[in-house]
Amino acid sequence: MSMNAVVLEEFQEPLEVHRVDRPEPEPDGLVAKVEGCGVCRSDWHCWQGDWDWFGYRPDPPHILGHEPTGTVVEVGEEVENVSEGQEIAIPFNFACGKCSLCRNGRENICENHVGLGFMNEAPGAFAEEVHVPNADVNAVPLPDSIDAETAAGCGCRFMTSYHGMAHQGDVGRGESVVVHGCGGIGLSAVHIADALGANVIGVDLMEEKLERAEKLGAVATVDASEVDDPAKEVREITDGGADVSVDALGIEATCRNAVDSLGKGGRHVQIGLTTSEERGEIPLPTDEFVAKEIEFVGSLGLQPSRYPEMLDMIESGKLDPTILVEDTIDIHAVPGELAAMTEFNTVGIPVCTEFGG
Ligand SMILES: [Zn+2]
Ligand SMILES: [Zn+2]
Repeated sequence: MSMNAVVLEEFQEPLEVHRVDRPEPEPDGLVAKVEGCGVCRSDWHCWQGDWDWFGYRPDPPHILGHEPTGTVVEVGEEVENVSEGQEIAIPFNFACGKCSLCRNGRENICENHVGLGFMNEAPGAFAEEVHVPNADVNAVPLPDSIDAETAAGCGCRFMTSYHGMAHQGDVGRGESVVVHGCGGIGLSAVHIADALGANVIGVDLMEEKLERAEKLGAVATVDASEVDDPAKEVREITDGGADVSVDALGIEATCRNAVDSLGKGGRHVQIGLTTSEERGEIPLPTDEFVAKEIEFVGSLGLQPSRYPEMLDMIESGKLDPTILVEDTIDIHAVPGELAAMTEFNTVGIPVCTEFGG
């Protein structure tokens, strides 16, 4: 039996929907019918062939898509905690469940990390069905109160931002948080940091994105296209510098500006991965880190074991992942959405919800 899937055949060449074989569950895995899968700039990077320095450059052909929610249709014989018919969230950061990091609650940076949709070991979720390896660890059963549309909004931008703000940034009540780059990750970070009680400042080049940031709770914004030094503006707004900075984009300018926005004792959270310009490396003012005792922390995905706390905040209405969902689309529209990202002119997140046909 075959199914529709968005297949990367050649880097940077137009993407197409092809018929491919349906997945079969491994003994410890499951197959889920994909209910929704967000379209993300990370898919674009993978399509461009970026991120070989990160291990996220699959050999084509490869199915893209890494933000799925689904309904379990088949489980392998070793799976104990998930069963057919269950609705699940599927993190992109697949873990082994056995290494010391997994055993210590850090499955998102598992020693045997496999990136869904980014590595050949895990064909992606712009497809009618997706395979989830090691399902007892990697599938997150959803509570009944969270509908498919809400769950579909929890894709990498949202769960990654949650981990970045709640755990790695340890954002607390009353702190000032500056978010550089108000795309999907950045706007999620604004919303989540606001929910955690912070005063959030959004920085971007596009007025439309800054307006969204304000709607999502930003107390101030800086239009980086209008000022010489956005970091200086942030230091003025915060009376000396922010407590926490976020680089949601991963380009040299946003990373530098984010770090330069911090006050003494500040914490920088790096969420965005760099582009083919930086190739994984950005020069930073290290002596400033010493003088100001600045912390620089990375943040990758969200461990499945800590999904429940994010889902609790969604159930209680403090977080709403649907506010970033721009519209729902058909799988045949996914290649065009990704192509539009080449021009950087997308605001909000389309979620693919129709896969057949
Ligand atoms: Zn592991
Ligand atoms: Zn993503």
